[in-house]
Amino acid sequence: MRVYNFSSGPAMMPVEVLEQAAAELTDWRGSGMSVMEVSHRGHDFVECEREAEEKLRRVLGIPDDYAIVFCQGGATGQFHAVPMNLTRPGDLTSLVNTGQWSAKALRHAEQAGVRVEVVVDEKESGYTTIPAPGSFDAARGSAYLHYTPNETIGGVEFDYVPECGAPLVADLSSTILSRPLDVSRFGVIYAGTQKNMGPAGMAVVIVRRDLLGRARPETPDILDWTRMAEQDSMLNTPPTFSIYLLGLILDWVERLGGLTAMGERNRTKAETLYTYLDSSDFYSAPVGPGARSWMNVVFLLADRSLDKTFVAEATDAGLTNLAGHRSVGGMRASIYNAMPLDGVQALVDFMSEFERRHG
Ligand code: PMP
Repeated sequence: MRVYNFSSGPAMMPVEVLEQAAAELTDWRGSGMSVMEVSHRGHDFVECEREAEEKLRRVLGIPDDYAIVFCQGGATGQFHAVPMNLTRPGDLTSLVNTGQWSAKALRHAEQAGVRVEVVVDEKESGYTTIPAPGSFDAARGSAYLHYTPNETIGGVEFDYVPECGAPLVADLSSTILSRPLDVSRFGVIYAGTQKNMGPAGMAVVIVRRDLLGRARPETPDILDWTRMAEQDSMLNTPPTFSIYLLGLILDWVERLGGLTAMGERNRTKAETLYTYLDSSDFYSAPVGPGARSWMNVVFLLADRSLDKTFVAEATDAGLTNLAGHRSVGGMRASIYNAMPLDGVQALVDFMSEFERRHG
């Protein structure tokens, strides 16, 4: 019995992908072993890694002048890797603060010894807003500008790529592969895999090649994009299962029609849920139109004393992990790529029935 899992990550994966992984788990590519048991230096796995990279390049339309690196340490590892690879201690960088993940990136960058100028701060709105296009730029002399296109906790998302005088660095953890993206606008893109790209255990880094070769000498090899790229992400034992599943996920995205189709599907899902929220007095969405995430839909019950009952009854109905992040409360429905429209519709039906009984 599968449930509709609204978890923010690790998150729901396409059932077809799980079934394929299950079917070949004990005998992968005729090896008589699972993919987890084969050598990462063997021909089969080297091919599997190369294929995953190739498919990612095709699906995202990554130009040749960008390197793809698979790093361990998740997106949090990249909070450090970014300043280590692009700056020297004391250098100036810029950051757009739209929520808790931006704030974390800021803290880690400061730990790595860079000066960070916060060029936009949406804290005053309670992180429910996104700056207008053209309203900000990197501070003069910045090595890069860092922003978080989708804030997983607050549920705000940029629907545009900022114009910027410095290389743009983006934490795409919770929105990568959700819609088409013009990679050529970015200096560096990084994302943890556990939302739209498979299981936890890895970050994908896409870096414009002219930004390679600048890492501080003390950068650990496994966070040094240049060394990792030179070794095809095989500098040490990589997270083989995560790389394998990324490949299967990308096959699934392509079967569905690629990122254009995925974007349409995600737009419809998000609109279905927000339209319902806006039509109700029993529920509300704290994030206004123009800033609403397609991936993480945050909502509140007018009567907060019903929060626990809502979560419990939803779970009983097969709609799991709807409680908001522990730091903000309320509800959050994470509707990543793998969540079908049927799952969103089931949630709306449940919410309307819950309102009928408790409203
Ligand atoms: N950035 C964003 C936007 C996230 O949502 C998360 C995790 N939820 C992280 C960074 C941290 O990712 P990880 O746990 O892979 O380090």
